[in-house]
Amino acid sequence: QNDLSHVVDADKAHVWHHLVQHKAFETSDPRIIVEGKGMRVWDQNGKEYLDAVSGAVWTVNVGYGRETIVKAIADQLMKLNYFAGAAGSVPGALFAERLIQKMPGMTRVYYCNSGSEANEKAFKMVRQIAHKRYGGKKTKILYRDRDYHGTTIGCLSAGGQKQRNAQYGPFAPDFVEVPHCLEYHAADQGWGHLSGEAYGQRAADAIEEVILREGPDTVGALCLEPVTAGGGVIAPPPGYWERVQEICTKYDVLLHIDEVVCGVGRTGEWFGYQHYGIKPDFVTMAKGVASGYAAIACMVTTEKVFDMFKDDTSDPLNYFRDISTFGGCTAGPAAALENMRIIEDEDLLGNTTRMGDRMMGNLHELMNKHAVVGDVRGKGLFLGAELVQDRATREPMDEKRVQAVVAECAAQGVMIGATNRSVPGYNNTLCFSPALIATPDDIDQITDTVDKALTKVFG
Ligand code: PMP
Repeated sequence: QNDLSHVVDADKAHVWHHLVQHKAFETSDPRIIVEGKGMRVWDQNGKEYLDAVSGAVWTVNVGYGRETIVKAIADQLMKLNYFAGAAGSVPGALFAERLIQKMPGMTRVYYCNSGSEANEKAFKMVRQIAHKRYGGKKTKILYRDRDYHGTTIGCLSAGGQKQRNAQYGPFAPDFVEVPHCLEYHAADQGWGHLSGEAYGQRAADAIEEVILREGPDTVGALCLEPVTAGGGVIAPPPGYWERVQEICTKYDVLLHIDEVVCGVGRTGEWFGYQHYGIKPDFVTMAKGVASGYAAIACMVTTEKVFDMFKDDTSDPLNYFRDISTFGGCTAGPAAALENMRIIEDEDLLGNTTRMGDRMMGNLHELMNKHAVVGDVRGKGLFLGAELVQDRATREPMDEKRVQAVVAECAAQGVMIGATNRSVPGYNNTLCFSPALIATPDDIDQITDTVDKALTKVFG
């Protein structure tokens, strides 16, 4: 094995890692992931891990070491690596066509590089539509408590995790929060003892209340995650989405579904919203589009929205005046095309549903065995287990102990995640999102390891 001590030193001296508290840079050695194959990765010491979080942030949907994706990228880059602006590219056109086939009702793909950027595109379109169509009204964008839409100031303005964002204000105006839809913590919302569909209806009605309070003629869009990711792995109960759709239609509010995490297979459908038969106006996606083999994100919309931008040619600035430099890198759509072929040919949507069911069953067993597991939830291979101090009060488990479970799993060779570090009340859900190629043995190894870790940390 190569000696990577120089790499560790260089990393320690010069890399500012994401989401790491300052003291950790001084007190611990960085973990360098050197190699990946299938479901597994290896660190600088040669230690093997089963990766149950798909590269820490739910991204590597088709697994590591996919030679056909790497070859598709290399072949494309040798032919043409990049061209942006108004010109198209061969893989850009072909991937847009394939993607649209999976999204009935949608017709237009706008390429960019990150989930945050894709969301910003939709926010900008909503604002521009307000100016073009509604005389400068309908500029407000509603977002939901606990949801996350990205890291830019615009996306943080639409971020439902207040403590996380507090030090980055002031924020953009006209972003308005609506209540979350997490049945497990329904008691905190003051709506009485509701559950299942009745709770889902109530949480959706709460969105209507905000629209009426703000004035329907001021609200342009509603932006939601189909399964809330970092805010707690939350899949709303039946009936919620149908009611949300009804409300948006009633008040002429554009529906923006943020599929940055759920998109391209993670929940067992191509897109999370497709479980519910709803018809969004904007769908944004990033992580799973090319499974991390290239940086690509897409903002997808309907012909109805596209048409709103073609009605007035008298003003030369009245089109969507936006560009994304690396939206012109052909590696993204070349990788995305091959990524999609793999998901189809290997029936990874079916596998995700089957393995998700198996994992959910295993997590229920863990809940029966360990009192600290208060709730298990999610969809497909995007699942969470909320840890609580006390099942009756549902008081969140202390972050240190949640992280101790994560660390113990890593020590035993399984990487799992936990939601939203450092945000009290949101930081206590263990999070599982293995690659969609997981086998029954992989799933059982993950939950067996969590079982042992829970026993070790909590007895
Ligand atoms: N939306 C959701 C739901 C996300 O989880 C994330 C990233 N974790 C983003 C948007 C932002 O994506 P990116 O980090 O690519 O900007």
